[in-house]
Formats: sequence, C-alpha cells, structure tokens
Amino acid sequence: MPNRELNEIESVCTYCGVGCDIVGVVEKNRIVKIYADKDGVVSQGKLCIKGKYGYDFVEARDRIRKPRVRRRFLERNPELAERCADRLEPLDDEWMTTDLETATELAAAKLAEIRERYGSHSFAAIGGARTSCESAYAFQKFCRETMGSPHVDNCARVCHSPSLQGMRATIGEGAATNPYNDIYETEFMIVIGSNTLEAHPIIANRIVDMARTHNNLAVIDVRRTKLAKQAKYDCVIPFEANLLILNMMAYVILDEELYDKEFVATRTKNFEEYREAILADPTADPSFFKEVEGYEYLAKMIPNIAREYAVKKSMIFWGLGVTEHLDGSYAVMALTHLALLTGNIGRAGAGLMPLRGQNNVQGACDMGCLPYYDPDYQPPKEVGLMTPRLIDAMEEGKLKALLNMGEDIAHIHPNLNKIDNALEKLEFLMVQELFMTEIARRADIVVGVKSAYEKTGVYVNAMRRLHLSQPLVECDLPDDWEVLTLLAKKLGDGENFAFASSEEVWEEVRRVAPRRFSGAAYYRLKRHRKRGMQWPVYHEDTPILHLLDFRTEDGLGRFLYHPWRRRGMVEEILEGRFYRDSLEGYYLTTGRTLAHYNNAAQTRRSPRLLNRHNEDLLWAHPDEEERFGDRVILRSEHGESEALRVAYSDAIRPRTLYTTFHHARSRINALFGDESDELVLTARFKSVRVEVIPVGEVWGGS
Ligand code: SF4
Repeated sequence: MPNRELNEIESVCTYCGVGCDIVGVVEKNRIVKIYADKDGVVSQGKLCIKGKYGYDFVEARDRIRKPRVRRRFLERNPELAERCADRLEPLDDEWMTTDLETATELAAAKLAEIRERYGSHSFAAIGGARTSCESAYAFQKFCRETMGSPHVDNCARVCHSPSLQGMRATIGEGAATNPYNDIYETEFMIVIGSNTLEAHPIIANRIVDMARTHNNLAVIDVRRTKLAKQAKYDCVIPFEANLLILNMMAYVILDEELYDKEFVATRTKNFEEYREAILADPTADPSFFKEVEGYEYLAKMIPNIAREYAVKKSMIFWGLGVTEHLDGSYAVMALTHLALLTGNIGRAGAGLMPLRGQNNVQGACDMGCLPYYDPDYQPPKEVGLMTPRLIDAMEEGKLKALLNMGEDIAHIHPNLNKIDNALEKLEFLMVQELFMTEIARRADIVVGVKSAYEKTGVYVNAMRRLHLSQPLVECDLPDDWEVLTLLAKKLGDGENFAFASSEEVWEEVRRVAPRRFSGAAYYRLKRHRKRGMQWPVYHEDTPILHLLDFRTEDGLGRFLYHPWRRRGMVEEILEGRFYRDSLEGYYLTTGRTLAHYNNAAQTRRSPRLLNRHNEDLLWAHPDEEERFGDRVILRSEHGESEALRVAYSDAIRPRTLYTTFHHARSRINALFGDESDELVLTARFKSVRVEVIPVGEVWGGS
C-alpha cells in the first residue's frame, strides 16, 4: 500500500455566488481532489466543472510569491529607493522583488506623501468580491478611516448594484428573499437575463429538475440560452427591452385584475398612482409588440407568462442581463413590483432571487465596500464616488493613488482605452492579487496574497448564506486583511487595526454590523457549517425575508413606476432601420461559459478548464455566415476588439451577436463606453451597437 496521508476538509467553492459546499482532499499540503459534500445544502452532492477541477491555480508556478516593486516607481522615488536598497532584488527588466515589510513600508510612505500633498480624497480603493468578508471589511475601513477617503467601491459596480438599488427602493433589502431549495416548493419560475445553466449551474440543476417534471418555466432573454430548452415559454426579446416586458406583465396583471388585493392593501403603498400610470402608458400594453417585426409573438406570450406568474406561487430569478443596462435599477424595481402585486414574496416557494456573480459579492456589499453604504448598509459620514467617476477623477488628475484588491479594472470594466489612460495619470497604484493580472501589470507595487483555499474567512452566497471557509492547504502568503493591517500600522493607525486573526476582524464586524451578523460568531458558523446560516442572524438565522413586513422604514413595499423609454433596437425596428443589408448596426451582448469565470485569472491555470474554452468566440445567426466568414473584428464608437472566431447558431436572433469576454487579449470590453445605469452607473455591458469587419483567416489559429 502506498504511504498516503489524505485529509478531507470541508470548505466552500471559491468561484460563483452559488457558494457550493466542497470537500478538499489534501495530500502533503497539496489539493489532489475536490468533490461535493453529499449532504451539502447548497451543492446537493454536485459541483460544476469549475468547482471540481478549478483548483490548479493554488499552486500555479506564476502565483505572486514575493511582493514586486516596479523599477520605474523606484526611479521616480529615489529617497524611498535608497531607504530600501539593500532589501530589493532584481526580478527582470521591469520589477524588483522584496519582502512584505518592505513592500508595505514603501507603499505606506508613498500613500502618506500623497495624502499630505493632495489631501485624503486623492486616494481611492476598489476591491473585488473573491476575498472574505473580513478582508472586505478591513478594506473599506482602511480607505475610510486610515486614509480618510470616502472613495471605496467594489466589483458589484459592474454587476448587481442595480439589484441592490432597485430592491432597496421598493422592499428595503437588496438580497435574495428565499433559500435555493424553495425552488422545489414553487409552482412557476421566471428566469430573465440569466444564462443560469452556465453562470449558476448548481441552482440551474434545481430549476431544470422542476421544469422537466412540472413544465413551469419561462426564460426571457435576447438569445436562446441552454436553459430555454427546458422552458414552457422560450421568450426571446429584443435588446434593451427588459423594463418594457416587465411593465407589460404588470399591465396584464392589473388590467385583468389578477393582483392580490389583500396583499396590496395591507403590505404596500403607492398602488393607485402606480396602477393609473401603467394603465395609461401605451408602451406597457403588450399589443405594442404587434408592430415590432420579428418579435410579434411577444404580444401573446407576455400575457400568458404574466397570467401564470400571477395565479401561481412563483419565483423570479435574474442576472446581469437585467442589471447591465441603462435602466437596470428600474427593471429590478419592475421585478419587485410583480412580486408585490401578486403576493409572491414573504413566503416559501415564492420570491425574488438576484443571481449574484462572484463568491462573496453579497458579503463585500454587506461589509460596506460601496461609496454610499457603511457596513450593514448604514449611511456613511460622507458619500464617495462610484468607480466610473473615480476613473474620470484619475483622468482629470484629481485622484492620485489607488489601492486595488482582487479586482481587474483594466480587463473586466468598460471603456478599456479610457481606463488605460486614466491609470497612466496615477502617481501610485498598489495591487493585492494572486497573479499578474492586467491591473497588476500596470501597478507600482504588487503584493501576492492567500487565495480562498488557503485561509479562514466568512463568505456570503447569493441566498445570504454565511459559510465559514477553512483553509485546505497551508500557505505563508499574507491574507488581504493582513496586508491592510500592516499598511495601517505604518500609516499610524495601528490601534484601529489591532487584529491578530480573521476571527478578531469578524468580531468587530459583528459589533459594527449587528443587524445582520450579531449572532454569527465563528463558533456558531463552525457548528452550522453543513447547513450554513442565512442573514440576518440573531439567535436564529432567517431563511425567508419579508414574512410579515418589508425592511423599509414603515414596513410597506413601495410601487415606483418608471416607464420604458423608446430607444435602441426596438426603435430601429419600428422605424424600419434595423433589418438592413449592411455590416453596421448589429447588437452585441456578452456572457460567460461554464468553464470560465470573470477575468479567467484562476480558471485558465486549470488545463481541464482552459482546454474547453481557450479563446473568446463570437456567436451569430446562420444567415450571416456568408458575409462574416470565419473571423471578424468588432468595432464600436469606443474601440475595437481583436479578431474573433465566429460560430453560427439559430439560438442567436438575426442581426444580433453574442460573445464571451474572458480573455484580456480579445479586448471585448474596449467596445463599451461610459453608458451605464442611470442611478448607480453599472456599465451597459449587455448591449452595444457594433460594426462587423470580416478578416478571413489571416489572423491564423488561436
Ligand atoms: S456552481 Fe458555482 S459555487 Fe458551485 S461548484 Fe460551480 S462555480 Fe462553484
């Protein structure tokens, strides 16, 4: 028998917001396998391929093991360079390496100088949502308290900030209302703007199970997603029409008096104004679609979906296909209106489920990594700028220093050419990361940190479930919060950062954010690791929100009608300009595949994942094949992509396009400009008008 010492350690998947329970099999401090806990409340014994195979990144050779300092930074700061000269070692033409103490000493000295010279508001912190709540908490605290700047934001800016905004405006809480397993108790499901089978596959498993046996699923999207194959209503809609469609559903429910009169009377307000406004809005009548060529079937299908939703116990799921638009926040309000109208909220088997993207994006927002919320969604002393405005401030030379923790704004944010220029204007950029991502390549100081599989910390998944993650392997890199603690101490804020462990950080979170976390001590989270606990956690946790009242000041849900504004593709169709014989005027949307995740920093280090998707593909309708050929460049008014290989499928509607954006070299996000959600500036990633430039095979293989 081989002498193998295998440990099996329970933890949580580091990828998407589903938050699957995993078991890591570890041999001699190496992960050799990850499998699903068969009793896992979330995973139910299954993981997708990212969860199962996506762990090679942990020991990838190109992990940042030693802090790096850019040579140019040292040249520009000769006094600092001289102070630390004997602690720096050359790495290559661009970088020196050093130890953590020296890297944080250099960073703290530079930050102090910038704060002294330009004031505290010349500093900003933009974080990701892959790290733990403890690190996210320390991150906003460092920005607000140590540096004295209100400018802290996180990657929810480019994903679900409109869900937070829209839900808080109407029902007072921006989070999923029910546990995933309520899917088994529901009678009807609407999935809108979500490629659930690829982006949230373990939730999709439940939806598919129910749809197959109960024929109770409507899928609403601009293309036919894989999930739509299971749908009773495969509802393909024009681009930028979510709010239009949702208002139409409410119109039908009101017009046919299918709403829950008692629920509306006792638990909501503003109903009469809302009803009058919507019934008087000609675009809210589904017969509007009789005039929209290519989409006439929606005039009948939308009322049918609305009727089933209203008379049954129903749930709605949505993703970035709803939020990443000009009217994303208003569309989320329209979703909550449907639930308020029909009483499909505040009970088992009914509710609203925003499908959050990253493993801890709910937690990062809960911790106050937002310019307009302190921890626990309390008002901050001062409201800071959202990321797009921070980038403007960099361009204008007002913002001088940026701390970036696990977020690649030089890859996954829009308007990449503008961001490149803005980053050039900074006097100091520090990055905490696992790998040399696009933003890390542009940094002055880069500190390598522990990954989720190497540390202890709390993660909050898309159903508000807290999971205390434990390390699968040991690692001598610092956790994100430890880097921040060192920086704070060197900036004279040591007493405020007297943390010796992640548990001590969490104890402070429980004091500062008692409304959600007061009862969630580590020892309780350990005991409840299998089941998890859904916030708010006092003595008990809270699987279903809004049972008796909403989390608004008066406990009532609010109707806030916002009409759809005629524009884009629908307007072009109505005016006879859309279907034309030209390579201009295509509508492009973007998304992800099952194998890849976010900026691919982790997934592409796993050959079993990379081999499944080693380039970004463009999908087009088969009628385009003759004109497009094998490869095309896309051009918008903001920039150009690199050449993309084209695949053809009738899941894509004529004159619309779909692509993934995982590989930085494709420069897909250079196509997007500053157009964004009206209220919270989330980029309009789900719709951009492009010209298609065929380039044949000249670009060769991938
Ligand atoms: S569904 Fe999400 S959380 Fe679950 S295994 Fe896949 S990537 Fe991990």
